[in-house]
Amino acid sequence: MSQVVTRIAPSPTGYMHIGTARTALFNWLYTRGRGGQFLLRIEDTDRERSTPEATDAILRGMEWLGLDYDGEAVSQFERADRHAEVAHHLLNEGKAYKCFSTPEEIQEFRDSARAEGRSTLFQSPWRDVDPNTHPDAPYVVRIKSPETGVTVIHDQVQGDVTIKNDQLDDMVLLRSDGTPVYMLAVVVDDYDMGITHVIRGDDHLNNAARQMMIYNAMGWKLPVYAHLPLILGEDGKKLSKRHGATSVEDYQTMGYPAAGMRNYLARLGWSHGDDEFFTDEQAKEWFDFGGINKSAARFDFKKLQNLSGQHIAAGDDAALLQEILAYREKSDMAPLSDEMAAGLGRALYCVKDRAKTFGELIDIARFILVQRPLEIEEKAQKQLNSVSRSILETLTPQLHNVTWSREALEALINQVAETHEVGFGKVAGPLRAALAGQSVTPSVIDMMLVLGRDESVARLNDAKAQCHD
Ligand code: GLU
Repeated sequence: MSQVVTRIAPSPTGYMHIGTARTALFNWLYTRGRGGQFLLRIEDTDRERSTPEATDAILRGMEWLGLDYDGEAVSQFERADRHAEVAHHLLNEGKAYKCFSTPEEIQEFRDSARAEGRSTLFQSPWRDVDPNTHPDAPYVVRIKSPETGVTVIHDQVQGDVTIKNDQLDDMVLLRSDGTPVYMLAVVVDDYDMGITHVIRGDDHLNNAARQMMIYNAMGWKLPVYAHLPLILGEDGKKLSKRHGATSVEDYQTMGYPAAGMRNYLARLGWSHGDDEFFTDEQAKEWFDFGGINKSAARFDFKKLQNLSGQHIAAGDDAALLQEILAYREKSDMAPLSDEMAAGLGRALYCVKDRAKTFGELIDIARFILVQRPLEIEEKAQKQLNSVSRSILETLTPQLHNVTWSREALEALINQVAETHEVGFGKVAGPLRAALAGQSVTPSVIDMMLVLGRDESVARLNDAKAQCHD
């Protein structure tokens, strides 16, 4: 089989929608699993709605999600001359024609067709007129669509979709100012870019029949089509801002790791048996059209959080740290000093399996991100009483000499608990308060190991002074 070439072709008219991200991901998985090429085309033909900011948002979104594409992004607008060239070629071949009907004439046609109960699809009187008799007047270029028969889209998701050709009018290819229409641009670009598989939202299914007309007229090989069902909100209505964030960037600022996001988006309309949690490598290997659901997918925030948590827990510490630092920057949090960032990196092993988002992770890792003297939360303050003072008084001097290892620290704390005739938990409470100023933290031993001897002892001494009677 020849090489697979796919593309994502977003229109830069706002933020990057989560549906675009899912379409990009499906293309990426399909392609990367087959050693093909995945391309990016910015469909910026609509000059009024397209903005450079929206293009930047798409590029940032792709980068954040780790959806690498081959080569440079292609601008559709910059290829307008080539699109027009194809229309002129069809004109020369007699497969398209100049139509001089005015907008008023077209409206009249429609009005009388409606009144007579006929199809309102415009039938141009210029289709078969001899070009030698053409007037010197403004015209559009229309394609000659087949008048009878059917067009069948062999869709990899929807199955065969049949459209009667008499329901397709002679679509305009070039407007009266000579500019190409979007539908022509898509086909020419896909052909020139060598796209073998068009994987996109099913809001484009109807366009496929019209686009096929252009392929056929040019004698070009059709791509394989796969139209993906919509994404709905939890209530079964089309996903919109009412349901929560629809912009890819918002998910980044909400603190989801890119790997978790990819895993979740892959599950949004595609499945591989009962697998919920998987790696990119598995998804690339497994992804196929057969696993795509025919019906719309529902966005499920709980599931996203769940998978996000699993990916944070499974993440490589060095890579996670980089992602967390990027998240902090994206969310306008204060930058961390190198020392604090290194501390956070050391702490990851004991906090990462307890957080569903990077925001939660930073909360749990607060002990390493604060400096003495610690602010002690009210709940933690309650732990610091006279019993705690005597526990701390027994413990702190011994910390100077103990080997700084999990086993030795555990043995020491157990021994202190025994001396005071209390359980481990009674000792852990005040230690938690002293080491983190919070009551929800990683285990005290982990915190001590991450903080190191000097900082741990200093914090315990600070707390000793704060114990109330
Ligand atoms: N530009 C279209 C969109 O953003 C996609 C067109 C296509 O994939 O063929 O919906």
